[in-house]
Amino acid sequence: MRKKNSWQEFQIIDLIRQRSGRLGVRDQIGIGDDTSAHCVDPRKLELITCDALVEGVHWESPWCDPESLGVKSAAVNLSDIAAMGGTPQRAFLVLALPAKTARPFIIRLIDGLVGELSRFGVRLAGGDTVLSPGPIMVSLTVQGTAAAGAVIRRTGARPGDLLLVTGELGTASAGLGLLRRPRLRIPVRDRVVQRWLRPLPRLREGNLLAQSGKVRAMIDLSDGLAGDTRRLTQASQTGACIFASQLPVSLEARMAARALKCNPLDLALCGGEDYELLFSCPSPHAPKLINKLRKRTGTICTVVGKILPQREGLYLTRPDGCRVDMPSGWEHGASEKRDFLP
Ligand SMILES: [Mg+2]
Repeated sequence: MRKKNSWQEFQIIDLIRQRSGRLGVRDQIGIGDDTSAHCVDPRKLELITCDALVEGVHWESPWCDPESLGVKSAAVNLSDIAAMGGTPQRAFLVLALPAKTARPFIIRLIDGLVGELSRFGVRLAGGDTVLSPGPIMVSLTVQGTAAAGAVIRRTGARPGDLLLVTGELGTASAGLGLLRRPRLRIPVRDRVVQRWLRPLPRLREGNLLAQSGKVRAMIDLSDGLAGDTRRLTQASQTGACIFASQLPVSLEARMAARALKCNPLDLALCGGEDYELLFSCPSPHAPKLINKLRKRTGTICTVVGKILPQREGLYLTRPDGCRVDMPSGWEHGASEKRDFLP
């Protein structure tokens, strides 16, 4: 499913950024964060994000049903709004479909997408449909708002901050492994594959974290903790260390990893698609934030690392105490890199 390509995602984003010109006077955030941000009035920012799911790259028909494809397309975009601490409002859909696509498939896909958007008060307000000579592509753009001054960027982390993550890691990636091996039956299979098929956008958590005023930087975890920590620290011009023994890996993910014969920590660090929030805050504020999130949303939150000065680099402290360079996360166009943990 992950195919080699002549380009890598980070490189092509840099190329686009270099050639796209300057931001307008009312644009506060451009390319390189979870959403763009445009100043609507002195008190309000408009956030916009888009994300595409392509058949054969992000999903395959035999194991991804059309409702789940619709739900997932909405959820991954809503997650980007959550990562800024914003509130989503409207969505726009571009659907590229082969001529042979059956009407019931399209109906189920749209129902999944609209249902997930509605759950968060978001209206599908427009878009386009085009004929595809090959795979199906679902591309969604979501617009939302945030109070000016309360939006959380990737750029604000400072040395000494703690790094925290909502929820649990590695389950979605374990779910993908099980979906691709339909004969591998384990008792927790359904729960694990649902985490890949239908991620939970952390909108309430993102809102609460933004309102707290204590969070300095935030990103949603689409490409694995390792890769997204790298993105956050590059944007903030810092280093970081991640404590492998503290990663919140669920019992289900550990059971699935055993069946898949892989290391659950690899899934948490490099697997991707958990769509949890990774954020930094000054260490004295961490216990209160953890309590507040648990009380108000029921979501657990765990300290997984620490922000360091940039000169100290990016590394992982393994459970045996050894320091190793941070592995790569999942990157479109790059070859897979795994198995760096004992
Ligand atoms: Mg994102």
